[in-house]
Amino acid sequence: MEMVTLGKTGITVNKNGFGALPIQRISTDDAVALARRAYEAGMTFFDTARFYTDSEEKLGEAFEGMREKIYIATKTAAQNAEDFWKDLEVSLHNLRTDYIDIYQFHNPSFCPKPGDGTGLYEAMLEAKAQGKIRHIGITNHRLAVANEAIDSGLYETLQFPFCYLATEKDLELVKKCKEADMGFIAMKALSGGLINNSAAAYAFEAQYDNVLPIWGVQRRSELEEFISYIDNPPVMNDEIKALIEHDRNELSGEFCRGCGYCMPCPAGIEINNCARMSLMLRRAPSDAQLTPEMQAKMKKIENCLHCNKCKSKCPYGLDTPTLLQKNYEDYKRVLAGEVSVK
Ligand code: SF4
Ligand code: SF4
Repeated sequence: MEMVTLGKTGITVNKNGFGALPIQRISTDDAVALARRAYEAGMTFFDTARFYTDSEEKLGEAFEGMREKIYIATKTAAQNAEDFWKDLEVSLHNLRTDYIDIYQFHNPSFCPKPGDGTGLYEAMLEAKAQGKIRHIGITNHRLAVANEAIDSGLYETLQFPFCYLATEKDLELVKKCKEADMGFIAMKALSGGLINNSAAAYAFEAQYDNVLPIWGVQRRSELEEFISYIDNPPVMNDEIKALIEHDRNELSGEFCRGCGYCMPCPAGIEINNCARMSLMLRRAPSDAQLTPEMQAKMKKIENCLHCNKCKSKCPYGLDTPTLLQKNYEDYKRVLAGEVSVK
């Protein structure tokens, strides 16, 4: 069994963390059963967020009465101290606990620091002094904020997208976290569904001993794949290397990672799903992308105002409005049967 220690937090867990974003989409009974199955199989790290609607409540129900057996990380997107305390109290209530193991700032556009006028970091320190949180973390999609958080020495963990499509700059973050004795929690290790070989994804993460991937699962079959890696962790070999190389070539350059950082869109376009539709149609079963609901979402691209708000916020420098149009044209061809997908 491969274990990871999250830097100076000392939290040591199996290398398969549970990402609780997708359990929003399933019933409470199913979510509770899934989380309990994960725990019984050896997963002890559960990452959620105040922003993930009822995800915290579902975890709270799953683990009531056994709090000390697991680690819980959650997040606040508060922009001021007042909202920070409100979020923390709601999270504690939902999770049916009196402490959070790692409390994280959720993707802030800046790196909160003492004296920056927001009162956010001071609130973290106060919450820690009160015993309501045990460790202070930050999540982000922006390299600049992530680097600043590491350099500040104020954070015990960083959560950042990290998969086998990582750039040199992403790898540098992992290295810097290790040097700073900070835990690195890897989100989007399957790149939001674009990576369809979980063994390759695991083998990549396994090369970095300070990285804890949190797998976002909502189906029992997906969970069982990761559970099987607890006893039989996939290792990097020539076959996996070739697959990664192939995917890197196919997904290099201008592709949307689905991070949603560019949203909301004033025209109501679900950019994080629509701007990578062509890839989703070809790399995952296409049925889910061709439903009437999804067709309606894609049709909204026709209402794009070309305001470029999305483009200015995309951390990958994508020309998002153009990318949306390209994906929409392709989608219409697929619907018309002019192009075939899987
Ligand atoms: S350019 Fe189009 S897609 Fe982008 S934010 Fe504006 S309306 Fe939305
Ligand atoms: S367009 Fe950019 S910011 Fe928007 S979801 Fe895609 S990668 Fe993220």
